[in-house]
Amino acid sequence: MTAEQIVASHKANVETLFGLTAKAFEGVEKLVELNLTAAKAALDESANNTQAALSVKDAQELLAMQANLFQPLAEKTAAYSRHLYDIASGTGGEFTKAIESQTAAAQKQFATLVDTAYVTHQDQTLALVRGHLHDRPLDRLVNTHLHSDHCGGNHYLQVHYPQLQTWITPGLSQAVLDWTQEDLSYQPTGQNCPRFHFTHLLQPGSVHRWANANWEVHAAPGHDPHSVILFAPEYRLLMSADALWQNGFGVVFPELVGVAAFDEVAQTLDLIERLNPTTIIPGHGSVFSDVSPALDLARQKLEAFAKNPERHARYGTKVLLKFKLLEWGHISRQDFNAWAMDVPYMRDLHQRFGLAYSLPTWLDMMLAELTRSGALLELDGMLHDA
Ligand SMILES: [Zn+2]
Repeated sequence: MTAEQIVASHKANVETLFGLTAKAFEGVEKLVELNLTAAKAALDESANNTQAALSVKDAQELLAMQANLFQPLAEKTAAYSRHLYDIASGTGGEFTKAIESQTAAAQKQFATLVDTAYVTHQDQTLALVRGHLHDRPLDRLVNTHLHSDHCGGNHYLQVHYPQLQTWITPGLSQAVLDWTQEDLSYQPTGQNCPRFHFTHLLQPGSVHRWANANWEVHAAPGHDPHSVILFAPEYRLLMSADALWQNGFGVVFPELVGVAAFDEVAQTLDLIERLNPTTIIPGHGSVFSDVSPALDLARQKLEAFAKNPERHARYGTKVLLKFKLLEWGHISRQDFNAWAMDVPYMRDLHQRFGLAYSLPTWLDMMLAELTRSGALLELDGMLHDA
């Protein structure tokens, strides 16, 4: 197989490339895994672009962002496999043998998925997984953290794949066993997550041989006290969860309830810098490789939030509101307000950061900010996700 043929077959069929590159990674499992996480990142991005939508400063930036968001899934997956091609292109002669052996190898290998998006997208998540695995089962599911938009599809996949291993970090394992939704944040944020179980604990500091690569599990507190990030030093590939995105990082949830965590965010960014990844698969947004500008931007945003926690609280509030709007698509203003005024986080945030405004007035102000930033459209008493 010449490089030209590989590129041609790549263009014709992305999955063929996965087969071809398999040899370079000594097995297809890694490719399946990368492919799924890349697809997942893209899925999450279109399904769940809350944070990005809220950090838009002007119309031009919004346009740029939307162009990025609506880039088709297939193209993103293809872009990622181009990266794989770069890695694989050095191994030339091995490809023919790889084609012959890859089907057999696939049977023996484990297929692993990292995180499962929000429950409203569970069908889409399963379809993506099945689209890549065909008749093979999914063997292992790993959660970086247990926010509803990272494990909302867990239950559905566990039902579909009864043999599925599910790995979670130890911090909330008791809460998952007992399904205490307060501790799991679903009740305080007014979000949904179907009950799931776990089979394994993902200990920070441990290393796992998954997909023919060693994956280091690093504690990454800040956005969530129990979150981890996954790093494969061999490929300098990082799955950064919500600790670092190309355009920032996730809301620092402990801070919303008065627990200091901005320093932990900074330490986690330092950790990422020390790991020195060349490629990052973030919890939201597309795969990226310009790590240093992303770290700079994240540190700038963090500094602004730390200087002005009220600004971060407003950002967090709007994320929670927009998140729910994404879930519902459209809803009457009245029903939305009734939901919002009952959400513990919202009441808490209002109490601590609502200045002297009443809860309904403060909510109106937050919704007005969302409208101004283009994240929300109000028509005849109905709120529409925009
Ligand atoms: Zn999160």
